[in-house]
Amino acid sequence: MIPRFDYSFSAGAVWQLLKRIQSRGRFDKPYFTTLFPQADVFEISSARVGIKYALQAFQLNDHARIGVQPFTCSSVLAAIASLGYTPVFIDIDRSLTIDCADLVRKVDSLDALLVTHMFSNPADVRQLRKLVGRLPIIEDCAHAFLTSYDSQPLGTFFDIAVFSFGHGKFPALGDGGVLVVNTTTYSPFLSRALSNLPSPNALKQTWFLAKKSVYSVLYSRFGYSLLYSLLKKKWSDKGLQVSRYPAKDRLPYAVVHHLFDAVRPALPALASQQRRNAFQLINRNRHSFDFIYPRSDDGCIFSVVLITRHRDALYDFLIERGIGAGKHFQHALSWATTFGYSHGDCPSFEYLQDKLITIPCHTGLTDQDLEKINLVLRDFALVAPPVIC
Ligand SMILES: *Cc1c(COP(=O)(O)O)cnc(C)c1O
Repeated sequence: MIPRFDYSFSAGAVWQLLKRIQSRGRFDKPYFTTLFPQADVFEISSARVGIKYALQAFQLNDHARIGVQPFTCSSVLAAIASLGYTPVFIDIDRSLTIDCADLVRKVDSLDALLVTHMFSNPADVRQLRKLVGRLPIIEDCAHAFLTSYDSQPLGTFFDIAVFSFGHGKFPALGDGGVLVVNTTTYSPFLSRALSNLPSPNALKQTWFLAKKSVYSVLYSRFGYSLLYSLLKKKWSDKGLQVSRYPAKDRLPYAVVHHLFDAVRPALPALASQQRRNAFQLINRNRHSFDFIYPRSDDGCIFSVVLITRHRDALYDFLIERGIGAGKHFQHALSWATTFGYSHGDCPSFEYLQDKLITIPCHTGLTDQDLEKINLVLRDFALVAPPVIC
């Protein structure tokens, strides 16, 4: 089976990292400062931790109301709730990012706003800037590393941006991320708060490497087939639980520095490869499916996304033919409901949330894989006449 994510991690790499577990390595600040020259950058262990500290840096009142799209990772909602703040749900449009018309209706009740560039699709930055006035804004770039809007990198448009290098992200290091602070008056607070976090010890790091190795086996071609044949329905429904906010905030695992150093020189090539893979699938099938993808001329594409009324049928069709598709954020409605979402708050979100499929375009795919995915998509289009919804 073609795995949904590329978590390959060789035994040799594990060994090299185990040997270096005592050497802390260094956060590659110079690299990020080159990418974001106007900003202060800080390393974080995950985007959710970054979101929490960014919100704290805003120094909002105790019952602050934070605008956020309900189609997002549950960890984002958990981070907002961890401070006792209330998420205010803003609808999404067909780009799966914040709907400016709904924002207009709700903006006056907000104390801060989270803007998510979902699946590398940039939010409507120009329009947002007109609407938000002086509202403090976090740019959630968990899907938007090395992507841009109007030739300017995403992560540079609002007060603070967060990036994640966790599982399922680009690059999928399994841990870590960065906070990009564009409004540098927030930097002294963040510098103090983040540098005081504890650093995981060698045992925790070894455990992290062990988990990473297990993931690498489970997400190999063989492991993924086995997992699916054993778990079937359970596997396709997974993810119902809300992602926990970590009980104890911490710095990233120090071995993540070494992981990042190893992948860094290849990042531009990996990003373009992922983009080329995505367009090999999108261009060949755009007449039969409703793909959602960024209109920029370059930049990484997080994964191939399409909307269909036949979501479950297409998912099963792909999986049965060996393609690790995903129903990304399929439980978003249930997650949001746990955090106070009421039916009718965001009609377009409710309509879209159970019609979305992601198809891998990661750099672990070969040309044969892409050809196979193309053929399977074509076959599905023949059986189920295209219904553009
Ligand atoms: C994964 C994800 C996050 C959280 O990232 P972590 O590093 O796992 O905390 C935040 N926002 C979005 C849109 C995500 O997909």
